[in-house]
Amino acid sequence: MTYRKCSFEGCDQKGDYKAPSSPDQLKEYIWFCLKHIKDYNKKWNYFSDMTADEIEEFIENDIIGHRKVKNMSTNDANYFEKINKISENMFGDMHNLDSSQLNPTLYSSKYLGALATLGIEDKNMSIVDIKSKFKKIVKELHPDTVGPVENNKEKLVKILEAYKVIKEHHGKYGQAKSRST
Ligand SMILES: [Zn+2]
Repeated sequence: MTYRKCSFEGCDQKGDYKAPSSPDQLKEYIWFCLKHIKDYNKKWNYFSDMTADEIEEFIENDIIGHRKVKNMSTNDANYFEKINKISENMFGDMHNLDSSQLNPTLYSSKYLGALATLGIEDKNMSIVDIKSKFKKIVKELHPDTVGPVENNKEKLVKILEAYKVIKEHHGKYGQAKSRST
């Protein structure tokens, strides 16, 4: 006897619960176990109620799974922590130089590249508008990310990286500028 398996990547439970596969294809279903149908339904609407920062955290933890690092011994974890500390120390000083000496209206190529990744052409776009753009992109990518489509995950990782670059830039230079509300 065969039965449907839950569509959640890596889940071996029976897929007894169905959900529309995307907002455009309400008659095409994907099947999940009870736990994952609940997750899926929660995710279905969630972006509309979340702030850009919450979405960012969600992608990191639940989609990319930074918290659930597998096969890593304690030693390895310590190793990465140390490396992080070292680079923080190294680049900390450079950041200080940046903010005092660079003209805030000059955009780094990193920043411009990040905007391009989000499909934003207006380099003067406010952080508020960028956040809503970010939300929109993530929302469009989302319905497939719980399924086996790995490409979306890669896209999300790139989008998230770009978004963080932009946020960091605005955190450094944009406090005064972006307080338009
Ligand atoms: Zn499942």
